[in-house]
Amino acid sequence: MASDEELSDDEDVEAWLNPLKLPTKEQLMCKSTGKQLLFLLQLYAPLDDDHPNQTTAFHRAILLFVTPKGSAVCKPGGVRALRCQLPRRNALYPYHAPGDTDLLPPAVQLVVEAEERDSPEAEAAMSKLMMAYKDKVGQEGELSEEELPEEVLQQVEEAVPLEQRHFAMFQARMALAPDQVVRYCFQPGAHPLWPRPEPQPSTADIPACPLCGEPRQFEFQVLPQLLNHLGQDDLDEDALDWGTLAVYSCSASCSTEALEAQTGSAYAEEFVWAQPSA
Ligand SMILES: [Zn+2]
Repeated sequence: MASDEELSDDEDVEAWLNPLKLPTKEQLMCKSTGKQLLFLLQLYAPLDDDHPNQTTAFHRAILLFVTPKGSAVCKPGGVRALRCQLPRRNALYPYHAPGDTDLLPPAVQLVVEAEERDSPEAEAAMSKLMMAYKDKVGQEGELSEEELPEEVLQQVEEAVPLEQRHFAMFQARMALAPDQVVRYCFQPGAHPLWPRPEPQPSTADIPACPLCGEPRQFEFQVLPQLLNHLGQDDLDEDALDWGTLAVYSCSASCSTEALEAQTGSAYAEEFVWAQPSA
């Protein structure tokens, strides 16, 4: 299905954490169109020191691939996430690396800092924003429902349609870090910020890890701001577009050895929920 114009397996990705056991052709195919996926981004995301599998995932990367066809982005399999990890002692990288982030060339790495959950600064900034939004109720209806005092929430609910409230909340959170393209929080109980109330996955929509059976948990979301960095033609009707791409990965970050033995790929597929922008 791949034509000459399309990108070859490795043309787009300059560094694979495990270059010896690359993803299979099927793993890099859009399930909706059958076309070869394009590399979107790679996160170097080692586990926290206190994670039980930290030793087997000392090096860890999540790669995100996206369909070349804009209209297929939010269809199942239009965006696919692959997880690759290595123990600290491995054949590819020195035990004492000069620095974890030096492993991958800057062009493809995106090292993210986990967003502080419940940080007092963020909450203070948030409530300031919310109070500012509150003043706009009558005028523009730009309000958020998250982290608002009960009484304000009630006013908002009376004044603003649900869809607008969600989007305004999303915008307000994003206003705290306008250059942010990825929101990362691989913690139990963390959840994505949705620009729109629907469609969101229920717990049942997020399949457990097929390798180990453990539930998947939210790890990060790609924000629509990234679209501005892709150099797309604004007039292209089939340009890539999304509201957000939420990536859920195996909570155990389990070993990929069985997969490697079976398929030759050291890249375990994780789950992506793509919410359209409109
Ligand atoms: Zn697993």
